[in-house]
Amino acid sequence: MRRLLALLILCASLACAKGPVYLLLWFDTEDYIEPAADDAALRLARDLEKAGVRATFKVVGEKARTLEARGRWDVIAALSRHDIGYHADTHSQQPTPALYLKELGWLEGIAEFSRREGRGVADIRRIFGVIPSCYGQPGSSWGPQSYPALRRLGIPVYLDEATQVGIEGQPFWFGGMLNVFHMEPNLVRPSLESEDRLGAALAKFDRAAASLEARGGGVISTYFHPTEFITTEFWDLNFARGANPERTAWRMPHRRTPEESERCYRILARYVEHARKAGVRFITARDLPLLYEGPVARTLDRRAIAAHMAQRQTFLVTPEASLSAADMLLALLGMEPQVVDGPTQRKESNYPGSVIPRAAFERARLDTVSFIRANHRLPSHVWIGSARLSLADFAATLAGDDGASAEVAVRRGNPEMERYVSTDATGAFSWAIHPEGFQAPELLELARLQAWTLKPARLK
Ligand SMILES: [Zn+2]
Repeated sequence: MRRLLALLILCASLACAKGPVYLLLWFDTEDYIEPAADDAALRLARDLEKAGVRATFKVVGEKARTLEARGRWDVIAALSRHDIGYHADTHSQQPTPALYLKELGWLEGIAEFSRREGRGVADIRRIFGVIPSCYGQPGSSWGPQSYPALRRLGIPVYLDEATQVGIEGQPFWFGGMLNVFHMEPNLVRPSLESEDRLGAALAKFDRAAASLEARGGGVISTYFHPTEFITTEFWDLNFARGANPERTAWRMPHRRTPEESERCYRILARYVEHARKAGVRFITARDLPLLYEGPVARTLDRRAIAAHMAQRQTFLVTPEASLSAADMLLALLGMEPQVVDGPTQRKESNYPGSVIPRAAFERARLDTVSFIRANHRLPSHVWIGSARLSLADFAATLAGDDGASAEVAVRRGNPEMERYVSTDATGAFSWAIHPEGFQAPELLELARLQAWTLKPARLK
């Protein structure tokens, strides 16, 4: 009897810990070459609507314009009953985002991304009547400068899958946007090529759902492309390895047989049915900001933040809050919580001493506050007279300061948050559309600087 009671109590406490599991089902709607891809998008939208499921269709700007030009108002209307995101203006036409962003620094990159991508956002708004709920890069053509540009375009969520940055396969804040990105092991994609392989995908789904439920809830990410359901190769093979042929020279991708297409639709239907029976909740990108706490966190007491930041500059998660290194630096500076960007470049310290006179340090502190207020980003370095401290060294020094002694001891920074950014400058950007041998270490370095803004997202 006592053992039964203990078991009941254990079950009850486990039930309490169970969190909600969400399935974010999204479709990169991008093929503007093969007209049958329009019908595939229509069928997917209608089938899912019949099944009572809302998905997120990330639409390419040129695809939206093509649907309009072809008079496919049936497709536009069917997609509009789901959530509409954005998936770049022309997707694979050269130069793709990583190519042009790699050549630019932080501020120039933001301006260039805005210039190139603003048209597509405007066309999505005009044709679908909504601001896109999210953006995701074409292929792995990712660059951190896209984040501030997207925020200014009114897009709050970054939804895609690649390896440049991520935190343990769950949503996170980076660059002031809520990211569903780098989601392994919570990325589940049943292969459309064989119904025999569906069992393995469903088993992976079940493992992910059980694990998320046990840790208080979370998101499973699943994506397809409507074009995959009707072609055996991607439409953008036209732009492979840096090619950029004229429109008149574009060739059609190879089509699936009708039987093969039916198999693809059947696999998706079986997956959706399995997820529904498992009791997960289908969500869209537009739901995410309602389910997760916002970027501006409730802050902790200064002592807890100082103890953490004196040792390491990385995010801090407590039962009360999730704070980025930037959030905590602002708190240490006595500033109001707000979204800021990371620094534009890496500058090492050249301050020669081991201590800083109190008055000089206070001036540096006020100057840093002034810089952040003026630029809405963290400085790359902080001046102590004619010498400078790197941002990480300044943060560690500020965190270690007691605020009273005549001299402030200089501490060395330890920007641990940078380890969440990929160091594989080739693999992180491997995409058939990029020129052969393409790599972008510059973009990963900029991302490491922006990791000041990185932190896990917290379910409300
Ligand atoms: Zn795509």
